Amino acid sequence: MDSLETLKELSSQMSFEADGEPRLTSPAPACFSPKENSHAFTHPAQLPNGQKIVLLKTLLSSACERDCFYCPFRAGRDFRRATFKPDEFAGLFSKMNRGGMAEGVFLSSGLAGGGVRTQDKLLDTAELLRKKYQFRGYLHLKIMPGAEKDQVYRAMQLADRVSVNLEAPSTERLAKLAPHKIFFEELLRSLKWVEEIRRTVPAYKFWNGRYPSTVTQFVAGGSDESDLELLSITHWLNKNVRLKRAYFSAFHPIRDTPLENKPAVDPMREHRLYQASFLLRDYGFDIEDLPFTNDSNLPLHTDPKQAWAEMNLLHQPLELNKAEKRDLIKIPGIGIKGAEAILYARRNKKIRDLSSLKKLGIIAERAAPYVLLDGRKAATQLNMF
Ligand code: SF4
Repeated sequence: MDSLETLKELSSQMSFEADGEPRLTSPAPACFSPKENSHAFTHPAQLPNGQKIVLLKTLLSSACERDCFYCPFRAGRDFRRATFKPDEFAGLFSKMNRGGMAEGVFLSSGLAGGGVRTQDKLLDTAELLRKKYQFRGYLHLKIMPGAEKDQVYRAMQLADRVSVNLEAPSTERLAKLAPHKIFFEELLRSLKWVEEIRRTVPAYKFWNGRYPSTVTQFVAGGSDESDLELLSITHWLNKNVRLKRAYFSAFHPIRDTPLENKPAVDPMREHRLYQASFLLRDYGFDIEDLPFTNDSNLPLHTDPKQAWAEMNLLHQPLELNKAEKRDLIKIPGIGIKGAEAILYARRNKKIRDLSSLKKLGIIAERAAPYVLLDGRKAATQLNMF
């Protein structure tokens, strides 16, 4: 295979999901691809600063010695494997970058010769990109299971984003998905190291003088875990290791794997998990606020913010002219910018009707059942809308 064929083979095996990396595509598990038939090399993505880029998402190698139950790259599975040497990939990507075909890269790999050796190859590639080829664009590096602390540090010095995919929320759950991955020693510890390094090493020592962001991914429903388990660990990671974001990939069976007969998970579950994780991360919600059902899952048919409001605000609507920002952002239809717009607008005059609310960018009809406007129920104005 020449380099281009290798790239075609490897990038076609990476997953691509509409809302992931960092906003439009999703970082796959260490090299997991539920969508085996994609053949695109590159994908549009949006960086956290809003910049839109064309991202190449690929593996350095699809050869793997592990046997994770859900993964198409598991050892022994019959398909054509491909591997890049670090300089081969770095040179090819550099040409693509200079030719305007790709502005950023997300690089992962199957495991060959252990996590430390595989991580070294990823680091060698990143080093070549940054130093030999002077690549200054977006680089997301996967931290391999079992990587060492100095490798994590080196990855942080080279990348804009590093990811460690936990796949499952605990040791017990991970055993159902990936019996040879060790939850704490191989995965969670690396996320803790990232945070430890951020706390002890000054930012100027990192790429572009900034600490890289950190993300993880879970295979939602793959180990029969509950949403409560997934969101509890996500919340813990947000608070303790400053996780930028958890990605949830609804389990999808891959033929010729031990889980091939396990039913696929409803993609709506993935959506609800994202909504709930944003409530935890950005909206001041706590785990206890989330509307879990008796089986510790979120209801699929309701937006979790709406469900919370039904339980807490429907009979005790909030006065919009007095509520604090932390309360305003919990109202359906009001986001962080909307809450700020309300605070600003009410400095000058009271908000008395839904049309004023709408002018502030609020989805007024969603907020109406849960708010009072100058002492009057806003919901009664809905029929005038
Ligand atoms: S380590 Fe597991 S998830 Fe990663 S490529 Fe190998 S089998 Fe797949």
